[in-house]
Amino acid sequence: MKISVFGTGYVGLVTGTCFADTGHEVICVDIDAEKIRLLSEGKCPIYEPGLEPMLQRNLESGRIRFSGDAVAAIRESLFIFIAVGTPPGEDGSADLTHVLTVARTIGAHMDAYKVIVVKSTVPVGTCDRVRATIREATAIDFDVVSNPEFLKEGTAVDDCMMPERIVVGTDNIRTAELMKALYAPFVRTGNPILTMDIRSSETTKYAANAMLATRISFMNEFANFCERVGADIESVRTGIGSDTRIGKRFIFAGAGYGGSCFPKDVKAVIQMARQAGFQMQVLEAVEAVNERQKALLAERAVAFFGGDLAGRKIAIWGLSFKPKTDDVREAPSLTVIRMLLAAGAEVVAHDPVAQDTARAVLGDRILYVHSNYEALQDADALLLLTEWNEYRYPDFERMKSLMRQPVIFDGRNLFNPMELHQLGFHYQGIGRLGGM
Ligand code: NAD
Repeated sequence: MKISVFGTGYVGLVTGTCFADTGHEVICVDIDAEKIRLLSEGKCPIYEPGLEPMLQRNLESGRIRFSGDAVAAIRESLFIFIAVGTPPGEDGSADLTHVLTVARTIGAHMDAYKVIVVKSTVPVGTCDRVRATIREATAIDFDVVSNPEFLKEGTAVDDCMMPERIVVGTDNIRTAELMKALYAPFVRTGNPILTMDIRSSETTKYAANAMLATRISFMNEFANFCERVGADIESVRTGIGSDTRIGKRFIFAGAGYGGSCFPKDVKAVIQMARQAGFQMQVLEAVEAVNERQKALLAERAVAFFGGDLAGRKIAIWGLSFKPKTDDVREAPSLTVIRMLLAAGAEVVAHDPVAQDTARAVLGDRILYVHSNYEALQDADALLLLTEWNEYRYPDFERMKSLMRQPVIFDGRNLFNPMELHQLGFHYQGIGRLGGM
């Protein structure tokens, strides 16, 4: 089948490449000419495990191509996916400028029946707006489908190729059948394609992210509780996680959630509810708890050194909002580093892949180094912010010999507090027994 995908970010690029890999013919469109140039040469502008070889394979076979020519892409395809960004506006509501721009372009240039698939995460009612926008420009028949994306950065290719479920929001059987045919190669193991009405589909995406963000803030709140009552969040986590009603996943305490989705989507739901005359009390608390948590490590470091970090060198391990991605959008590292700089610290950071994306945001106000040990040279403290596997089993003796003071604030609970104390470190995790 012929597909065009508008937007070659984390979602559009992975979706387009996976469709091509299952035999469909795909044109990916972006307004960013540099991205189109790189992608046409088989170079991935983002770090996502497994994506670049898949991209190159499909470029060579001719099943995928990249273009800035929106008109040709629209005319050549039956399915048009909208996978552009929906960043938060000033008030927290999702900014639909890009989505509606693509809708207007489709309306102006389509010359035959099309299925327009909204894959971006959009406020409830957006598919109706997309439909109205296209209808203003054309009398030709078309359908609009909601098809939210659930892939996770870091495992996006696997998530896309083997989705646990595919959600399709539609108001007619014709598009439901077309979407099932399109996605058939992805659900051969029997995972469901769930069809529902459009607004429920749009809401499902927000509810999923809001639920996951809630679990994280819930555990972070309990971590803070544990510290005050002398309990250990890691023991509590395993204690509750073995209850199948709760489950083991997404219950790790840490330095707060970040990324391009949870913060933005929680804010958007709060804002959508407000506009509908309703208050999302749980989600407002989820967001407030997360903001507090993101500041926690920096506050601890400042307090440990007596309220001032002038003349102190602080090492950071991990800049991305989670491992296996170079994405630093809304990452706790950004909050922490800005606070450390404001308190007068010199900051030296390491991340296996996110140094360039972090530099694009923070500039050269901090120093970026190529090895995690290099960051420790003469450091007064280490703040660990991303649980990259390569940070899990460091040489503690080497760390101690490099650091000016053996002080670790662990925002991801990677290390054992007892062991670190025995080794002579001042060590503090999140909600762990045996803080400093
Ligand atoms: P992104 O910012 O990485 O990429 C968006 C791309 O769209 C950019 O390359 C931009 O140049 C392009 N674009 C903007 N306007 C365009 C236009 N008129 N025509 C063609 N291209 C245009 O965004 P992303 O992270 O891929 O997210 C896209 C959407 O998917 C968002 O709504 C997001 O909430 C949702 N989503 C993201 C993830 C994730 O993990 N990143 C997961 C699920 C859903």
